[in-house]
Amino acid sequence: MSIPQNEHLKHTNSYYAATINEPIEFPALIEKIESDVCIIGAGFTGINTAINLAKKGFDVVILETAKVGWGASGRNGGQLISGFTFSPKLSKIMDDEAVQSVWELGAKSADLVRERIQEHQIECDLKSGFIEVALNKVQMQELVERKENWEKRGYQHQLTLVDESEIRNCVGSARYIGGLIDSGSGHLHPLNLCLGEAKVATNLGVRIFEQSRAIAIDFGKTVITKTNKGKVKSKYLVVAGNAYIGTLHKSLRRMIMPANSCIIATESLPDEVANEILPKDMAVCDLNTILDYYRLSPDKRLLFGGRWNYSGQEPKNIKGNLRKRMLKVFPDLDKVKIDYGWGGNVAVSINRIPQLGKLSDNVFYSQGYSGHGVAPTHMAAEIVASAISKEWDMLDLLSQVKHIQLPGGKWFASPAMAMGMVYYRLKDFIANRF
Ligand SMILES: Cc1cc2nc3c(=O)[nH]c(=O)nc-3n(C[C@H](O)[C@H](O)[C@H](O)COP(=O)(O)OP(=O)(O)OC[C@H]3O[C@@H](n4cnc5c(N)ncnc54)[C@H](O)[C@@H]3O)c2cc1C
Repeated sequence: MSIPQNEHLKHTNSYYAATINEPIEFPALIEKIESDVCIIGAGFTGINTAINLAKKGFDVVILETAKVGWGASGRNGGQLISGFTFSPKLSKIMDDEAVQSVWELGAKSADLVRERIQEHQIECDLKSGFIEVALNKVQMQELVERKENWEKRGYQHQLTLVDESEIRNCVGSARYIGGLIDSGSGHLHPLNLCLGEAKVATNLGVRIFEQSRAIAIDFGKTVITKTNKGKVKSKYLVVAGNAYIGTLHKSLRRMIMPANSCIIATESLPDEVANEILPKDMAVCDLNTILDYYRLSPDKRLLFGGRWNYSGQEPKNIKGNLRKRMLKVFPDLDKVKIDYGWGGNVAVSINRIPQLGKLSDNVFYSQGYSGHGVAPTHMAAEIVASAISKEWDMLDLLSQVKHIQLPGGKWFASPAMAMGMVYYRLKDFIANRF
């Protein structure tokens, strides 16, 4: 999904945009200003980095191409899942102690979100309870090993395995052979969280500019970030544009693949139907690479997401395509109306580990949460802010992870990723047959 230049950009037409608590608008930047820190991107990464820095006394400006929460942060599945997407490859590049530190960052990330919500009383329909469901024995074994591993590493929340006989108490579908319930994860209204956090940021003195795309960065002892009509001169810059970074910085763009994921929202379901399909009101995610993820909203709509493509373009007929997938899981919903359908871009990194680091002494970035960023963005924001205030060296540890750059930008990257996806689809297909 490319961002049209010079267009007044509104939120995508989603269930979330239709249920915003309180719309907020910020002005566009039309002058030259100065700040300690300039942040590009008003999603969870950018806004939370700003909050953390403002709390430490920094003067912060945020530039946003469209609107606060316009990107993935305001249109995602709302699944608050503990843990970084964690690659076994990490142990090949880090010692055990470092791997444990990185694991702990992920494991505590959902706690950070809950703390933020509680501290500032942000209304965003937070619920606890998440189940990852297995479609086959290979996936079930993965969950058994995950539980063992996380408990060994010291996870602070309850993990419970459920088998084929118990899974129907959590998910009213015949598709699954078991699952792993994580009481430390849950679900929420992501756009209301992001807008609530923007309000917290502005109360702390952060200046936010919407409809203000950063078009060029002049690196140096002070950094100049240019927009069409203004400029920010700052001591530090944080690039938090994630999958929507576009052409602003070539090497950051080449480190990630913008993949499109879509969601539908049904009409409100009668109580007995909602209780039948999700009796414990948990968020659900399966373990396929091209995964299904779903949950109920407070007004009992089923928000059902899935279907990725790697063109970065929103697919046609989102409602029709996703409805078919939803009916494979819940065939009895065939008479239910689909009220909303929307898509958004996820930044996938090749090794699936979030990418945090520096482009120069005073220019930082965080991106590449690989479709699993609601909680990790909040931890990333803590790490980047603490690197700027020189209080915590976790960024140095994370920047040891080498991130592959795809050569040739979009012309090479999309076919390369498409080929990679054929492999993963085949892997899912084989696992689901046995
Ligand atoms: C459909 C979908 C479903 C998802 N579901 C889940 C889920 O259930 N659970 C989960 O954990 N994760 C999920 N994710 C992933 C999660 O939403 C993201 O990882 C997370 O929101 C990333 O936050 P961010 O702030 O880094 O990026 P974004 O929220 O994308 O924010 C980046 C912002 O930067 C702005 N920007 C970019 N370039 C510039 C520029 N040059 N100048 C100014 N502004 C710029 C963009 O306009 C955008 O608003 C999902 C993502 C999608 C798209």
